[in-house]
Amino acid sequence: MRLVLLGPPGAGKGTQAALLSEKLGIPHISTGDLFRANIGEGTPLGIEAKQYIDAGKLVPTDVTARMVESRLAESDTEQGFLLDGFPRTVEQADILEELLAKQGHKLDGVLNFNVSEDVVVERMLARGRADDNENTIRTRLGVYREETAPLIDHYGDRIINIDAEGSVEEINDRAMTALGRS
Ligand code: ADP
Repeated sequence: MRLVLLGPPGAGKGTQAALLSEKLGIPHISTGDLFRANIGEGTPLGIEAKQYIDAGKLVPTDVTARMVESRLAESDTEQGFLLDGFPRTVEQADILEELLAKQGHKLDGVLNFNVSEDVVVERMLARGRADDNENTIRTRLGVYREETAPLIDHYGDRIINIDAEGSVEEINDRAMTALGRS
């Protein structure tokens, strides 16, 4: 299964992706995690990405897309993947479509995690990651509304809506049911 996970920052996509990855036996590919690994290792990509991430802005698409392309070229993605954090713009969605088309593949679906803004702010402040201060959170929610939310219309009937409020287990059950795997 080739799935994209969509939802506002703090929707719990990463937590759900880890569980789904285990249950479905396909890798979880998180652009945020890939950036943080690069930052931790001090790679040129990490150094470039850090300034944007710390400001709550999107890393430029060419940098992000190259990173995703090389990750999707690894053999563990042959049976599918859960893409978390990419695409974040319609431009990135078009790039992904092209990358997959080159391999003769297409997306099977887009899981959209629905959660209110109050809940995402609460979750982000609770996890306390370096980029989770109140200012950055506000910026990221604005970026989500303007740049990422339009993907819901863009994907149209490929969207699978998941109610992402409740416990981790409840949300995971809903996602598995929606995928016909429960
Ligand atoms: P969250 O889901 O809380 O927003 P992520 O770990 O997915 O956190 O992303 C952290 C940061 O990494 C984003 O705020 C952004 O700066 C950068 N980033 C992640 N994915 C992308 C992307 N597809 N395009 C541009 N920047 C990205």
